[in-house]
Amino acid sequence: MTPAAAAIAERLAAVRATIPARVRLIAVTKTFSAEVVRAAYEAGLRDFGENRVQEAIAKQAELSDLSGMTWHLIGRLQSNKSRKALEHFQWIHSIDSLKLAERLNLQAAELDLRPSCCLQLKLRPDPNKGGLTLAELQRDLSDYAQMQHLNITGLMAIPPQGLEPDETQAVFIQTQEIAKMINQMAFPHLKISQLSLGMSADYPLAIAAGSTMIRLGTLLFGQRQRRTGAQN
Ligand SMILES: *Cc1c(COP(=O)(O)O)cnc(C)c1O
Repeated sequence: MTPAAAAIAERLAAVRATIPARVRLIAVTKTFSAEVVRAAYEAGLRDFGENRVQEAIAKQAELSDLSGMTWHLIGRLQSNKSRKALEHFQWIHSIDSLKLAERLNLQAAELDLRPSCCLQLKLRPDPNKGGLTLAELQRDLSDYAQMQHLNITGLMAIPPQGLEPDETQAVFIQTQEIAKMINQMAFPHLKISQLSLGMSADYPLAIAAGSTMIRLGTLLFGQRQRRTGAQN
C-alpha cells in the first residue's frame, strides 16, 4: 500500500469502528485529485461522492483502470448536465425538483439506464442548499412515484450549518419519519429504503436516526482547499 493509502486506511478503520456494518460509507472526494481517489480505492473504499459533474468525469478518465467503483452525485445538478450525470454516476442523491426528475427520467429511458436516486429534502430554510420542502414533496409525490426509469429509493437531507446538535438531530429524525410516511402510502414504484444523512461533523447523529449512507470528506481526507472560479 502507498503511504497515502495507508493514511486513509487508518482513518477509515477509525470511522468504521464507530458505525454499524449496514451503513454505507461514501468517500466525498470533491476538490481532491484523482490520485487521492486512487489511494482511497487502495485503502478499500468503493463508493465515491462528487458534487460537480465535470470534475468527476475528469477523475474517472484518470482512473479507468480501476473497477467496481460506484459514483454518487451529491451536489446540485443543473439541468444542462443531467445527461452527463446519468452517464457518469450510478447514484444521484440530489433530485431537488420535479422538473429535474422528469428530465432525468426521460433521458434515463433514452440511455436505457435506471439510476438509483434520492429526493433531496430541505426541511429548514437554507439559502445555500437545494432541496424539496415538505409541502413540495407531498404535492408531487405521486408524480415521482410514476418515474419508471428512476429507482427512487432514498431521501437525502443536509441540515443548515451552525445548528445545535439537537436541531441537527431533529432534521435527521424528521427525514426518517418522512420516509416512513412515504412507505405507508404504498406506491408500487416508490419505496424508501435508504437515508443519505450525515457528514463528517454530524454522522453519529445521522446514524442514530437511521442513516444508511453517510457522506464523509474531511474525516477521511482532511480539510479541503477553498474553491475558486466557476461552478461545475
Ligand atoms: C462536501 C459534502 C460532504 C462531505 O462533507 P465533510 O464535512 O467534508 O464530510 C457531504 N455531503 C455533501 C452533499 C457535500 O457537498
